[in-house]
Amino acid sequence: MPQPDNVVLLERRFHEAWHTLFADRTPFEIAILLIKKRFNHGVVRSATLHAAWQGGEETFTYRYRRDHPPFEPWTFKAPQMRAWHMLFADRSDYSVLHEVVRASRWSPAGYFPMGHIVLAGGGKITYGF
Ligand SMILES: [Zn+2]
Repeated sequence: MPQPDNVVLLERRFHEAWHTLFADRTPFEIAILLIKKRFNHGVVRSATLHAAWQGGEETFTYRYRRDHPPFEPWTFKAPQMRAWHMLFADRSDYSVLHEVVRASRWSPAGYFPMGHIVLAGGGKITYGF
């Protein structure tokens, strides 16, 4: 739900594409969705994501376990595929995740104070520690 400190200025068509793709999820929920649904099982080795807003805070932690079942896939309908392409073009999921947790375009300043995401093959997003 839009509230003063989770509103960011976005061009209207991007704003609409964002809602087509992510409905009314918060940036925190979107980051979790990306981590769970946009990478093949085992690619994300571990994730710790901290979000803070309006005095509230939440932490998401994940650690890959080979014996755990993969997350349900995220299947796009055509409007969602168009929205994804408008927002992110052909960029990698790693690049998209990085942008969502780090770029002021997607969340207000200070919303993601700490994060540590480790991918198989050496990719890493770390900030705030
Ligand atoms: Zn909105």
